[in-house]
Amino acid sequence: MNQKITSRIAPTPSGFLHAGNVYNFLLTYLFTRAFDGKLYLRIDDYDLPRYRRQYVENIFLVLDMLGIDFDGGPGGVGEFETKFSSKFRLGAYQNALKKLEQKGVCYACECSHSMKNSFKNGIYMRVCADKNLKFKKDETAIRLRVLDVAEICVRQNLINFDALCGKPDGAANQTGGLWGSEQKAQNGVANGLKNLEKLGDSGGAKPGGEKFSFNATENLNSANLGVLNLTDETAFEAEKFAQAQSVNLAQILGDFVIWKKDDTPAYNLASLVDDEILGVNLLVRGEDLLACSAAQKYMAQMLGYDFAGANFIHHGLLAHGGKKLSKSSSAPAVSVADGAKIHYKFAALKLGLDASKCDALSNLLEMFEEKFSR
Ligand SMILES: [Zn+2]
Repeated sequence: MNQKITSRIAPTPSGFLHAGNVYNFLLTYLFTRAFDGKLYLRIDDYDLPRYRRQYVENIFLVLDMLGIDFDGGPGGVGEFETKFSSKFRLGAYQNALKKLEQKGVCYACECSHSMKNSFKNGIYMRVCADKNLKFKKDETAIRLRVLDVAEICVRQNLINFDALCGKPDGAANQTGGLWGSEQKAQNGVANGLKNLEKLGDSGGAKPGGEKFSFNATENLNSANLGVLNLTDETAFEAEKFAQAQSVNLAQILGDFVIWKKDDTPAYNLASLVDDEILGVNLLVRGEDLLACSAAQKYMAQMLGYDFAGANFIHHGLLAHGGKKLSKSSSAPAVSVADGAKIHYKFAALKLGLDASKCDALSNLLEMFEEKFSR
């Protein structure tokens, strides 16, 4: 049986895209296309109050600029709003919630974040766990109980709980590709790890290492990725995907909200259900979502989803002036007028590829394939 990669680019339309989003898109594209996978576009409009059409327009503009193609998903704003919005999948989210409720692993919670006694270091203190509250719109949220012993073995940047929690590396005889040709996830992951180790060991850029200068005729020194000047060595760190780590979900996240007070699904539930619908088995996301990955995996196991065997590649976040880029840190928006080249080159540098040869997405993919998929 041939398990192919299925992945997705899943931006949130709650702000304009920044250079970190673009870096994530490129990595997702590279990992998926280099291994002949399927790539979907999914726009995660779960946070409806923050939804704005101009953010969706921005997503399409930036993807267009980058030249990323998809095997499925909305082709434009109109199609997104009329066919692909998460609003149309509310029933699927409700079914997942019902299933969890029937297992007795959820409870309603009336706390708000301003209630200091309900939280300790950001972790919910289970104040409502035994109150037997009912869900009531605008008054309670629903939380999932996380067992204290929910120690989840995580390869920080490529997670497969089965493969990494004691299952031996069975991929020695696999050839080529992030995924094995006959065996399922475990072997695929082991292979993936090998490729990632190669990635980690790759030459080129070193953390805090030498300065990067481009061909002067390209005049990239003055260009920047919103705020990231490529010649600023403090802003640049080579990508380090692999770091073994075990995550205790109870300690890093605690009992988390799966259904919000406004009677809509929380990100972790909605994204999981959508990934299961698409058959996603590889997620490429920033390391800030490590806890989300663990939470989703945990939930997937409870729901008996295939997603329980999904793999994760967590990449570093881009930083500027010691601050990680995020929409909430109000990172500057990507300038479509500046073009895509600077982003290709930046990704190339992060991956230890020869940036001078990455003028087009096809060049970047070729170099990535050459290095990692053979
Ligand atoms: Zn509570």
